[in-house]
Parts: sequence; structure tokens; C-alpha cells
Amino acid sequence: MLRYLPIFVRFLFFINRMSSIQALQSFLQTPQKIVVTSHYNPDADALGSALAWGLYLRKKGHEVHIAMPSESPHFLSWMPGIETVMAYEGPANRQQIGQWMAEATLICCLDFSGLGRVNDMENLLRQSQAPKLMVDHHLQPEDFATFVVHDTKAAATCELIYDLIEQLGDKNLIDHDIALCIYAGLMTDTGSFRHPTTTPRSHQIAAEIIDLGVNTNRVHRLIFDTSSYERLQFLGYILTEKTRYLPEYRTVYMTISEAEQRRFHSQTGDTEGIVNYGLQIKDVVMAVLIIERRDGVKLSFRSVEEFAVNTIAKEHFGGGGHKNAAGGKIEKATLVQTEQQLLAILPQYKTQLLAVE
Ligand code: 5GP
Ligand code: MN
Repeated sequence: MLRYLPIFVRFLFFINRMSSIQALQSFLQTPQKIVVTSHYNPDADALGSALAWGLYLRKKGHEVHIAMPSESPHFLSWMPGIETVMAYEGPANRQQIGQWMAEATLICCLDFSGLGRVNDMENLLRQSQAPKLMVDHHLQPEDFATFVVHDTKAAATCELIYDLIEQLGDKNLIDHDIALCIYAGLMTDTGSFRHPTTTPRSHQIAAEIIDLGVNTNRVHRLIFDTSSYERLQFLGYILTEKTRYLPEYRTVYMTISEAEQRRFHSQTGDTEGIVNYGLQIKDVVMAVLIIERRDGVKLSFRSVEEFAVNTIAKEHFGGGGHKNAAGGKIEKATLVQTEQQLLAILPQYKTQLLAVE
């Protein structure tokens, strides 16, 4: 009997999801005032899902505002509708976003499911009485939303948005621009369709997006081949001067200070993806980037196969994430202290690190 339990649990999840979608569908029958938001330091999945969902909702006749906890990276400045996105920075923007939130009849939280991921906007969300929609694929969601579309097996929130629009019966409304935004998130969150999270569904959606006329080669170039010369030099500097390889732990880590970011005129988003270079070394299981930010030290973890970095992020660095891509933050620590902390915990993971095939 027990062996049917997982199937039964999945069935319950399925029923729950369908009822959430039906409830959302009837809620969206009347025009709403909607705020769409996503996590701090929005990436292509965060922005792609927010923009695609916003474009769709506007087509349905709703009033939509998109508010992000922080600025968008410049390599995503080409995304359709990005000029309408407001960052929760500076008094004027903060006031405007506060007003949108106060007047909202629906707040959509995309690509995050822990309210801590919106930094300074957390209280606005907690205090708001408006119903919330959560669309996300991260582990351990917080219980704050009225409508929940949550699936940790989805490769990207953009994938969930595509499916959601289809389930709402509006697949015909997915136009070139919506598809373009969805593709950006799907491509980046799957690491260009190579991460183990990539499913047949991810490829099916990509195929349908190509059918809609999206130039996927151009999207790839816009995201990955628009570095400045200085960023490339910064990368070279990090790889030669700031990267430590610890073969005894099959680990690579990098440290970047604020001064170094200033020296290379590093922009928001410039350090995105750098951590992945660590995994290019043969037999490396974990790569870590430790970077100094205005509000503390941020860590990015990447791993391969069964080695779970979200556990490390959660237990030692107040963060979380996915099995193979996670992050954390220490507010009151220096770069060197954080590096020491990482080195101190490595021995307890040595057996697991060495066991990976
Ligand atoms: P990145 O290294 O690209 O900043 O983050 C990788 C993944 O780790 C994100 O998609 C997110 O799931 C997770 N993550 C990053 N930072 C944090 C954090 O501070 N807290 C939590 N819970 N997850 C994080
Ligand atoms: Mn995502």
C-alpha cells in the first residue's frame, strides 16, 4: 500500500494546483490592479517571468505595475517592457511602489517563495492585505500566497508561467514578446538546456517559442556575448588572481572585494555566472563565489550530481536554493572571515565531496 503513497501525494499536489489555477482564473475575470515582483538582484528568470506575466495580464485588461527589490542587470536591458520595471531604490521609487502595493488587488510573487528574498520590500509584502499569487520552483516555499503555482521540478519560473498561461486557456495570447521573455529565463535557468533540471517539457516549450518566431540565437548572444572589455579583463583577473583550487576537497572558490569591483568598474550583473567557471575543472564537485556587497558578504554555490549545496547554504550561510545552485549571505562578516568559515566547514563534507562519481 505504502508504495502508492508518493503517487497519491503527487495526485494531491496536482489537485491542489488545479484548484489554485481555477480560483485564479475566476479571480482574473474582473479587471484587477496588479503588482508583479520578483527577488533581489533579478536574473533573466525573475525578469523574464515578471515581464511575460505582466505583458499577458495587460493583454487581459488588467492594470499592471512591475516592481523589483533592486536594479536590473544591464545585460537584460533589451528585454521587452523592461523600461516599465521600477526598482525599490531611492525615496521617490520607494514611495511609488509603496502606493502601488497599497492599492493592489493582487500581488504576484514570481521566482521566489521566501519573503526574505525581496530584501527591503519584505515588510511591504508582509503588511499588504492583497491576495498573493506565487509562481516559483525553489525548495521550501513559505506559506503566504492565496494562489500557489509551485513546482520544484520546473526548470524555470518562466516554464511555469508558460504552462500557467496555457492552463488559463490563453495560449493564443502568447505572442513574440511574451515568448522572448520566457525563453530568456528558460535558457539561463537551464544553463542553455544542459543542467539536470532540463526536461522534455523545457525543450517542448523552447520549440514552440521558436515556432513563434523568436530568434533564439540572438537571445543567446544578447545575454552571453555582450560583455564589456573591462568585464572580460575582470574575469581574467578573478581566474588568475582570486581563484583557489582545493583538489583534496574537489572544490574551487573565488573571492571578490568591493575595492576590486570598483577597480574594474564592475556593474550589476557583471559577476553573474563567474562561479560556474570553477566547475569546468575536471573532477571539481563544488564551486563557490564569495563576494563583498554593500550590505554584507554574499556567497554563490554551484555543484554537480548529488552533492547538495543548498544544504550548505542553509546550514552555514543563512541561505538556500536548489541542489546544484544555491546562495547565502552573511551580513556582519568580512571577506576573509567568510573565506575562513568556508574552509572550516569543508572537512565535514569531504567524504560526500569525494564520493561523487
Ligand atoms: P546565485 O548564486 O545565482 O545568486 O543564486 C543561485 C540560487 O541560489 C538562486 O536561484 C536561489 O535559488 C538561491 N539563492 C541565492 N541567494 C540566496 C539567499 O540568500 N537565500 C536563499 N534562500 N536562496 C538563495
Ligand atoms: Mn528561477
